[in-house]
Amino acid sequence: MFYIDHMREMFENRFGNLKAFVKTFGCQQNESDSEKICGFFRDIGFSFVDDPIFANLIVFNTCAVRHTAQDRIYGHIGMLKSIKRVNNNIFIIICGCMVELESEKNKILSKYPYVDFVCGAKSFEKFPELLYEHLTGIKIEENYSMSVIQKDKFKAWIPIISGCNNFCSYCIVPYVRGCEVSRKFEDILSDCKKYISNGTKIITFLGQNVNSYDYDGMKFKDLIYEVDKIDGDFTIRFMTSHPKDFTFSLVDTLAKCKHFSKSLHLPIQSGNNRILKLMNRKYTREEYIEKIDYARSKIEGLVISTDIIVGFPGETNEEFEDTISLIEKVRFFSIFSFIYSKRNGTLSATMQDLTKYEEKAKRIDRLINIQNKISEELHSELIGRNFRVFVEGISDEYLMCRTDSNLMVKILNGKNNYEIGNVLYVKIANSGRNALYAKLLEEI
Ligand code: SF4
Repeated sequence: MFYIDHMREMFENRFGNLKAFVKTFGCQQNESDSEKICGFFRDIGFSFVDDPIFANLIVFNTCAVRHTAQDRIYGHIGMLKSIKRVNNNIFIIICGCMVELESEKNKILSKYPYVDFVCGAKSFEKFPELLYEHLTGIKIEENYSMSVIQKDKFKAWIPIISGCNNFCSYCIVPYVRGCEVSRKFEDILSDCKKYISNGTKIITFLGQNVNSYDYDGMKFKDLIYEVDKIDGDFTIRFMTSHPKDFTFSLVDTLAKCKHFSKSLHLPIQSGNNRILKLMNRKYTREEYIEKIDYARSKIEGLVISTDIIVGFPGETNEEFEDTISLIEKVRFFSIFSFIYSKRNGTLSATMQDLTKYEEKAKRIDRLINIQNKISEELHSELIGRNFRVFVEGISDEYLMCRTDSNLMVKILNGKNNYEIGNVLYVKIANSGRNALYAKLLEEI
């Protein structure tokens, strides 16, 4: 495409040596978008550096979910000023969810004038064309299909649905990502086939709510079922699920799929029905527990994790205790818990919130302490069991691995020349709160 070649030429003339630094904030969806941004810049001749000082093009792919995350990103954008002072030729791009909010976009453009180009998450598929228009003033109607640079060759993030229709009262995502759009079934299937034949071992389907995938009547369970039929040594994961759309028939399908990883992240957010209603979550505590019980009865060894918001506006101590009793009943392997963070523009930002931050901090400490004990107990129950694991990282001390079901397993590094992505067979010898410690079966 002429405009891609033209951009390559323009950047070559401007920089000579094309070096890019790409930093991603936030969720796996952003990681996946960044893999495409990297793919695009590689296509026009850039290589990548780990330090922005050595780059002549810098991209920040931003997140808007929490205020604290946003403040941190502003800190990073602020630091670019000194880099621009040293190298005025540098080209700075800020993209992603934060830029989708009009107020933040205006703030970036007015307070950080050294930022050259912004692109919101909803316009992401048109990133090359919008960048070209910014550089030349010429509008392009075509659409360049961005290739992907996989961060880890053995893992593939595959977006299947973008946006969200749920409007949970605390969440900014529907405003920044727009309404749900499911990707073409055949395109996802062909992505999966390509990745698996290239040696990818873990396929993770991505979406704000993967369970509501619907392309021409093909639902999420149909997608999983079809991908499961592909020949190869791989596992299927997905995130994130919404409990109201996580159906019994999906569980039945997962139970039949030999490639399903047996890991499920199902955010509950609160164990109290009044708070769930205020959050606009559209399920009750009882319905959630019934689904978990059903999934566990059908899928042996299922590893379940969740998200919890502590201190939602109006949450009383008694209502928080319902969350505690829920985690004690369900016994998640892990939870991601957060103190409620107000996002302007959401419904919950208008709700009265009289609980002091110190009280919320006490609640979350109590939650974490109880969960730590549960995690420790569940991990210790696996001592003596055998697992197949993937090597995810290597330090001097350990091979850092994951089971198919996404549990972390550490193996003493015996300098066996294993590589990231290798598959190993291990026996669990010991356990901690967040990890299992294993020996290689071949060495036992
Ligand atoms: S389901 Fe709710 S929490 Fe999840 S992205 Fe949609 S609105 Fe946000």
